[in-house]
Amino acid sequence: MRTRTLKQVIHSIPTSDGAGVKLRRSIGQAASLRLDPFLMLDEFSSANAEDYIAGFPDHPHRGFETVTYMLDGHMLHSDHLGNQGNLKSGGAQWMTAGRGIIHAEMPQQESGRMRGFQLWINLPANEKMKSAAYRDIQPEDIPEFNLANGGRVRIIAGSTKADGRNIKGAIQGLSTEPLFLDVRLPAGSSFATPLPMGHSAFVYPYEGQVEIGPTTARRIVAAQTAGVLSPGDSIKIGTAEEPAAFLLLAARPLQEPVVQYGPFVMNTREEIEQAIHDYQNGLLV
Ligand code: MN
Repeated sequence: MRTRTLKQVIHSIPTSDGAGVKLRRSIGQAASLRLDPFLMLDEFSSANAEDYIAGFPDHPHRGFETVTYMLDGHMLHSDHLGNQGNLKSGGAQWMTAGRGIIHAEMPQQESGRMRGFQLWINLPANEKMKSAAYRDIQPEDIPEFNLANGGRVRIIAGSTKADGRNIKGAIQGLSTEPLFLDVRLPAGSSFATPLPMGHSAFVYPYEGQVEIGPTTARRIVAAQTAGVLSPGDSIKIGTAEEPAAFLLLAARPLQEPVVQYGPFVMNTREEIEQAIHDYQNGLLV
């Protein structure tokens, strides 16, 4: 057993994307702050419609996967394949851009809170040009279980073991083997789970702060901050006086060159030039 500890902290910074949606970016705010195979994590959270109403009109992607996980609010996804996805509180969408997708994600509310995440996960070289795919995961299709300490775990992807139970998530069978958990803990409690030794992993508290690592080397990760974990085969995440809610993400690193130009992520500059050429000539999808 080797318990993971906190290796690096990446504070999120305010930015905007799409047609002007305000968000906070942690992983991926600079090329040096990716965590292979994770390219980016954005959190959007606002009760002010001006911060989100413009949404993300039609735009392309090539070479990776985008995962949107919604905590509060309602967005509608539509893409060139004809998929329509209703993204509601507690739901997720898993989109494999592959060789190309053109999609839009537009708010379906004019008031109230919009809160959630978008995660970008890279694809290995031999899958970057596969056909695009889309999965709309309704809230009731995300396995969820209650911990003995009063906490709650939702498993969007991968599988986890807690309180002696193995639970499989909604998304399985991807080559990067992503684990995507949403965990809520009461004050003075903890959550422990095995993690594959060589997988990249980070925790992102979105309410309250968490404590990482063994009792003798405990370190705090503040809210809206990505806490990158050291190698190891398990992790223990705790709370002190306040409850907390956090994402726990892990996946197998690809160890391939990454060349990114906005919404295109490939292995070489030539492939990026091809993607831009294809998009400009209507050949992306
Ligand atoms: Mn997009």
